[in-house]
Amino acid sequence: MLAKHSSNYTNAPYWLADKTVAAPVISFNRAELPAQVDVVIVGGGFTGLSAAITLVRAGRSVALFEAGDLGSGASTRTGGMLGPSFGKLGVNGLERQYGRDQVHATIRESLVAFDWLVYFIRDEQIDCDLSICGRFRGASHPDHYAGLVEQAEELAKIVDFPAIEVSRENQREEAGTDAYYGGIVYPTDGVVHPAKLLRGLCQIARREGAMLVENCPVHGVEKHNNRFEVGFSGGKIAAEHVIIATNGYTGGPFGKFKRRIIPIRSAMIATEELSEDMIKSVSPKLRCHGGTERLVAYYRPSPDGRRILFGGRAFGRGDQPGRYAPYLFDFMTRLFPQLASAKIDYAWSGMIAYTFDHVPHIGVMDGMHYAMGYCGSGVGRSNYFGRKIAQRVLGLDEGKTAFDDFPFKTRPFYTGKPWFLPAIMKWHEFADRQGW
Ligand SMILES: Cc1cc2nc3c(=O)[nH]c(=O)nc-3n(C[C@H](O)[C@H](O)[C@H](O)COP(=O)(O)OP(=O)(O)OC[C@H]3O[C@@H](n4cnc5c(N)ncnc54)[C@H](O)[C@@H]3O)c2cc1C
Repeated sequence: MLAKHSSNYTNAPYWLADKTVAAPVISFNRAELPAQVDVVIVGGGFTGLSAAITLVRAGRSVALFEAGDLGSGASTRTGGMLGPSFGKLGVNGLERQYGRDQVHATIRESLVAFDWLVYFIRDEQIDCDLSICGRFRGASHPDHYAGLVEQAEELAKIVDFPAIEVSRENQREEAGTDAYYGGIVYPTDGVVHPAKLLRGLCQIARREGAMLVENCPVHGVEKHNNRFEVGFSGGKIAAEHVIIATNGYTGGPFGKFKRRIIPIRSAMIATEELSEDMIKSVSPKLRCHGGTERLVAYYRPSPDGRRILFGGRAFGRGDQPGRYAPYLFDFMTRLFPQLASAKIDYAWSGMIAYTFDHVPHIGVMDGMHYAMGYCGSGVGRSNYFGRKIAQRVLGLDEGKTAFDDFPFKTRPFYTGKPWFLPAIMKWHEFADRQGW
């Protein structure tokens, strides 16, 4: 099925075109930066901004450098779907390597991370269309339903995380498609408007005194005795601590981090405005959604309930909407043929960061603090981990996490360019067709 673009079509995130997003944050003038600060943060997405807020509130001077506009990495390109992301933890593999107790601790902390972000947004009164709408995860193959139920039962033994079984007979109450073989509703999952959340964080960080410098890439960091010297476009600055918060955009100056991250492009499309009936024919309860495919698709209504935002795999090098938009449209209309005549208003992509063990990592490497590798489920985790690295910089016990002990591994000869991805994608495509 061919995707038809509307006359308003834009190759940019829907979130940024939304007129209800507050005015952009005005960048701190780099010429006015002091010679030294307590902490330099590299990366102006959720991780970096969340760290900045905790640090400035504790009285530390903070300069945050963002290569593009604040949030222009994944944080304003995301689907904004929010949950504890247990599914991304690769629990079985981790249990074999590290034992049950350690893995159960990460599961419990994933729920704490989610609860904390919901609390934080409400407590700070960040207007970001937070809605605890629940998530429906459909079984994409007949064999997957039992696995979904089993997983929910296993989780229930470890954490208080409600899950509701939905049989195939009843699934149209959750998703207007017969393409699934039943599924599970996680009623406590939710959604946010990510650009509004990002703006809210920027405003708090600025108000509290963080120096947020946009369009200013960091070129390199050198350590001299106990101090870092950070080189950026147009100057350098000394700092006692450095935080690397670059996730899927980790580049050349941070080769040791880059070698531990597998950057993967993820893409989304947004339909034109549709009737309320059409939206409800897709998502009767206005939840967020996904399936059990390996090459997963995820989707949700826009916060105003007028569009379907549909995301999944992107193709090729760089941002190639001409390739991923038709693929996503085809995926969407295979699930929901009723959307066949819907036009596409927006298509965009961004980078997520996988790790070799499917676990997000937080720690210190070469004296620099870092948090990254959220494996595509980073809205909750990045905000929470940003706060945790800040607490570690402050020397607080609260900065400890259940994720601290996982070694951040690379592979021999891997330099950060995932040459193996096309083969893995082909394998997943094949496995999806077989229903494995
Ligand atoms: C299309 C898409 C859909 C997604 N959907 C979801 C979802 O529904 N739910 C979910 O939980 N997660 C989702 N994610 C993942 C989630 O958005 C990310 O995990 C999260 O935003 C990561 O935040 P971050 O701050 O760590 O990284 P980012 O927001 O990527 O920020 C890193 C920043 O570092 C900057 N940077 C890099 N190098 C330098 C340098 N040398 N100097 C200065 N700055 C530098 C980059 O410009 C970038 O802005 C999605 C991601 C994408 C791309």
